[in-house]
Amino acid sequence: MDKKPSKLAPRTPMPERPAKERVKDFFEVTTGYTLDMAVQEAGRCLQCKRPLCEKGCPVEVPIKAFIGHLRRGDVTEAYKAIRETNSLPAVCGRVCPQEVQCEGACVLAKKGKPVCIGRLERFTADEFAARSACEQLTGDKACRMIREDLKVACLGAGPASLTVAGYLSTLGIKVHVYEALHEPGGVLVYGIPEFRLPKAIVHREVQAMTENGVEFHLNWVGGRTVTIQDLFDDGFQAVFIGVGAGLPRFLKVPGEDLTGVFSANEYLSRANLGRAYAFPAYDTPPFPGKRVVVVGGGNVAMDSARTAMRMGAETVSLVYRRSEAEMPCRREELEHALDEGLHLEILTNPVTFTGGEDGRLTGATLERMVLGEPDDKGRCSPKCTGEFLDIPCDLAVIAVGTGPNPLLLEATPGLKRNRRGYIEVVEATGETSIPGVFAGGDIVTGAATVILAMGAGRRAAKEIARRLLGQDAPQDVPALHGGSLSVEG
Ligand code: FAD
Ligand code: SF4
Repeated sequence: MDKKPSKLAPRTPMPERPAKERVKDFFEVTTGYTLDMAVQEAGRCLQCKRPLCEKGCPVEVPIKAFIGHLRRGDVTEAYKAIRETNSLPAVCGRVCPQEVQCEGACVLAKKGKPVCIGRLERFTADEFAARSACEQLTGDKACRMIREDLKVACLGAGPASLTVAGYLSTLGIKVHVYEALHEPGGVLVYGIPEFRLPKAIVHREVQAMTENGVEFHLNWVGGRTVTIQDLFDDGFQAVFIGVGAGLPRFLKVPGEDLTGVFSANEYLSRANLGRAYAFPAYDTPPFPGKRVVVVGGGNVAMDSARTAMRMGAETVSLVYRRSEAEMPCRREELEHALDEGLHLEILTNPVTFTGGEDGRLTGATLERMVLGEPDDKGRCSPKCTGEFLDIPCDLAVIAVGTGPNPLLLEATPGLKRNRRGYIEVVEATGETSIPGVFAGGDIVTGAATVILAMGAGRRAAKEIARRLLGQDAPQDVPALHGGSLSVEG
């Protein structure tokens, strides 16, 4: 099966459903590789002596090794190699911005044709899950005895906490995860839509952790239902805070309180977590707009726009105050959205939303912008022109960023935060100003990416394992920090 690598071979494309068909439903846009495609793509890898791709991965996936197994068609070994460091491969294979991480660092990127590492990771995870039963998922570790005397709590069940839970549970440490919502997964279930990341995939990864001894406590709000002090009083030896940055930001312009103006968080949560798209089979009423305006230029804006299309919108306009080249979303998402009929209203910024006597949104006034000189980071600031245009709309979704939710943070005395309100940590270990309390993911960095949240979770988990297990900790757990946690009974 091993194929001779060729630097010149083109990247193996991944099949996707036609735009006209997929825009009418919430099924996945891309359909994934077959085994033949995966082996062909893996055959392009040069198996470099110094695999630069691995330097680009925040959770240190052994990329060369897993692709090496795939070249021989050995999905099981490929999967095991990935799972050495990544608890959520089916998710990462779908949503990571590989173009700026592993694929961006791949030696073949210089020729514009990096190995499709993300697609291979997705294939491996899906194929393995389809083939195998639970005990194969974590090999001999699935039935590992969990040591009930070693207890760690995670607050929030997004990718950062799931990584901590996945890593520590395979070492036999008991992990309890406390999540405010009624489903684990964080943004993976409430934010990223089904057509990009099917919920079944997140459920599958969570299920594997449950079978490995992780306990999930849903509808538990850290800071309200449970405090960090309560957890220490209950005998937990370490606490990891992975509560994300889910507090929506608004534009603060007149009319933003009209019926029909939503934060992207609320809009996407209703559609995804509440499954409003399947109403009335699910209880959440949809808010289907016919003429929709989405404000923002990132992945969240793109997901909101594409969700609105699938909820029956006739037009969806993306209002963004800079130019298309500066939109921070992934290029692939933008291309998919344009294929599906997205209209770009670039270099414009909303100044007012207007409504009828019934308080419902009827339109938006946008100011035209121009780009100023680039700043020291090379990014041009938008400047007002004093020219305006009106566009009618009955639904507006504001996707201009989020901030930290202060609920847990304010209920935790002694937890140091930076001036933007995010938790301060020692970078190498994730430890906060409170000994034994760690944090990572968006609540530390601000809104970022799944893989960066996972990388932070992994660093914290390594440090917790080192302190709890001492010399029994795995070899690769470095002695990063001097402290030690008390382990009783
Ligand atoms: P989250 O995923 O936010 O999880 C935090 C969890 O904590 C949530 O479940 C929340 O309910 C829970 N919580 C909050 N407060 C409490 C509390 N007090 N007590 C208990 N639980 C609490 N990244 C990518 O890499 N690729 C993408 O394509 C991508 N697309 C995105 C699309 C959208 C719509 C959004 C919103 C984000 C996207 N991101 C993407 C960013 C990525 O999802 C986040 O960076 C990542 O999920 C952060 O992980 P986290 O674990 O820190 O937090
Ligand atoms: Fe293969 Fe690219 Fe990694 Fe080299 S850098 S091992 S070619 S994926």
